[in-house]
Amino acid sequence: MRSRTPDRLCAEAVDVALAVTQEAAGPDSVGAHLRVVAEGDRVVTHHFACEEPAYRGWHWATTLTRASRSKQITIDETVLLPGGDAVLAPTWVPWSERLRPGDMGPGDLLPAEADDLRLEPGWAAAPVPAPAPVDEGGPALPVPSVAEIGSVAAELGMGRPRVLSRYGLHTAADRWEEEFGPKTPMAQAAPAQCDTCAFLIPISGSLGQAFGICANEYSPADGHTVSLGYGCGAHSEAAVMPKAVELSPMVLDDLEDAEAEG
Ligand code: SF4
Repeated sequence: MRSRTPDRLCAEAVDVALAVTQEAAGPDSVGAHLRVVAEGDRVVTHHFACEEPAYRGWHWATTLTRASRSKQITIDETVLLPGGDAVLAPTWVPWSERLRPGDMGPGDLLPAEADDLRLEPGWAAAPVPAPAPVDEGGPALPVPSVAEIGSVAAELGMGRPRVLSRYGLHTAADRWEEEFGPKTPMAQAAPAQCDTCAFLIPISGSLGQAFGICANEYSPADGHTVSLGYGCGAHSEAAVMPKAVELSPMVLDDLEDAEAEG
């Protein structure tokens, strides 16, 4: 239990603490003696002001101790500690929580964690089990080879160690809906929806029921995955372009010119 009264011998050893602190920090860094704090039985910390301009509000702390029934003071440690008005760095946050969409640059690597909820195991080329015995007289069913299964899996987009999980699909759909969904101001003001637009490229898979890709260079969604309920003013059938106005031929006033000459 921490003693409230500092050990007398350790508390009186201010010179020892000062010398140790100056040795560790440099003589110009250590200022006035501030206080003595009892850390425990025969364990005392001496605090000194820090004179470093870059460490305003910080102070040096040197802890002294001694063995029971000994008058020999022992140095424990010297550290620089922040005070109440010290300038501190922001609380450290793991990189995985600091990372934001768009932070990645060329050459950066961002492998997905092994337990990433957005992913689940894909098809793996495991050995094909032996065919089950068939009743005598019944036809023997052909067993596909690993290569055959692999080619079908690759065609279905499953020939990867991991594929998008249901959770991954949902979170992606939510993100896309937020940016290019029917509730956006652009879609609300659009003359028609993407599902009737000629610039919409359909996508395969389950997400194809709700999304496609916009291929209109004049649309704000060009190259993006858009909800079928999204829409913009560049919809292919938004309006018929007005025909060019035919100008009438120029008319010259010959009569006035003839009267002037006559
Ligand atoms: S041009 Fe507009 S309406 Fe057409 S697909 Fe793109 S975003 Fe949708």
